[in-house]
Amino acid sequence: MKFVSTRGKAPAVCASEAIMQGLAPDGGLYVPQSFPPLTHLAIHEISSYPELAFEVLAPFFEDDPLREDLAEICMDAFNFPVPLVTLREQETVLELFHGPTAAFKDFGARFLAACMERMLAKQQRRLTILVATSGDTGGAVAAAFANRKGIDVKVLYPKGRVSGRQQQQLTCWGGNIQAYEVDGSFDDCQKMVKEAFMDKDISLQWGLSSANSINLGRLLPQSVYYVFASHLYNQAFGKKPTIIIPSGNVGNSCAAFWALTMGAPIERIVLSVNENRTIPDFLSSGTYQPRDSVQTLANAMDVGAPSNMERLFHLYPDTDTLARMLTAYSVDDPTIEATIKEVYGGLGYILCPHTATGERVRRDYFAGQPTIVVSTAHPAKFEQVVEPLIGTTIEVPENLAKLLDKNASFKAIGTDYKDLFN
Ligand SMILES: *Cc1c(COP(=O)(O)O)cnc(C)c1O
Repeated sequence: MKFVSTRGKAPAVCASEAIMQGLAPDGGLYVPQSFPPLTHLAIHEISSYPELAFEVLAPFFEDDPLREDLAEICMDAFNFPVPLVTLREQETVLELFHGPTAAFKDFGARFLAACMERMLAKQQRRLTILVATSGDTGGAVAAAFANRKGIDVKVLYPKGRVSGRQQQQLTCWGGNIQAYEVDGSFDDCQKMVKEAFMDKDISLQWGLSSANSINLGRLLPQSVYYVFASHLYNQAFGKKPTIIIPSGNVGNSCAAFWALTMGAPIERIVLSVNENRTIPDFLSSGTYQPRDSVQTLANAMDVGAPSNMERLFHLYPDTDTLARMLTAYSVDDPTIEATIKEVYGGLGYILCPHTATGERVRRDYFAGQPTIVVSTAHPAKFEQVVEPLIGTTIEVPENLAKLLDKNASFKAIGTDYKDLFN
């Protein structure tokens, strides 16, 4: 099995090479050359999530140096529950927030970290991962790489622009994870990371690498929970579900399209977005126009130029096919607030602002139909938005509480990237 660049001007590589490289040398994103059909899956014989992950992912790692480690990698990475919860009748929620940082990014970050650690041991080298974060990504990456051998992580976040709980998740690790509070904006943080990569001396000396969401090692494992949930849904309801996915950079939804392509029993994939309307506008106008992002209550989805669209354009090169496969609806902030209130009032179920966009889309367009809304984060991560709306405090889940109790430390620096390497 080989992986090719969406831009078609880079050599095909195996999975572990694509994972260690991140971006393809031609600037494109790695995608599988073909999608192995799931027909080999004896789903009834599979007893655990890590076992299913292994079965789904093994064909992608055929002839790969990591193939011999794959079962162990899956057990290491997916060591938390993945419940499909029924809200009412055929309406379900796939809770992807039971990992260490209580958001779905734990799946991809933990799989990537487990792969990288083993590859570095085989190659007997070290590397340093740089991450600029406006909140959630950095936390998932820091948690996933904490105490991994051969890897140091430097996380940069903008001073005063992340929530207290987010900051705690960036700064509580110690050991091989160093947090930097940058006296500047998120854009400054991103600029510093870029400058460090362009500084050839530093880049070579430190073995700089990234772990951002375009890495194949984060996307592939996300396909697994769509295979898992659609089969589980089928067993419970005897029907194929429509899956509604709160989306920003479209990594999570791209993984769902890959699962569908492999033959997972999915009726339809629907994206819910916030007021960043690039994709719904594309579907109604036929013209794809990336733009600057706008800030919303569902801030992990504040993306105006979704990078994984490049993978969807590659999967469905014909615009008519893409338009037929893809459905997307936008939900604005007042409607997010109203939906959190409505669902708590009606069912006692608490939604995070991102998941609220998905539940709104279900209620407006798919009410009563066989559906899975993907819950991307635990509401306790966004208590400042959610608690005033529901008029009560949200119980912090055990995994998150553990992190909030740890001692924190960070280095305060300006916007000179060289200060990251002193
Ligand atoms: C990252 C994130 C999203 C968006 O996922 P994409 O893969 O970027 O589309 C949605 N919700 C939460 C909570 C996130 O952290």
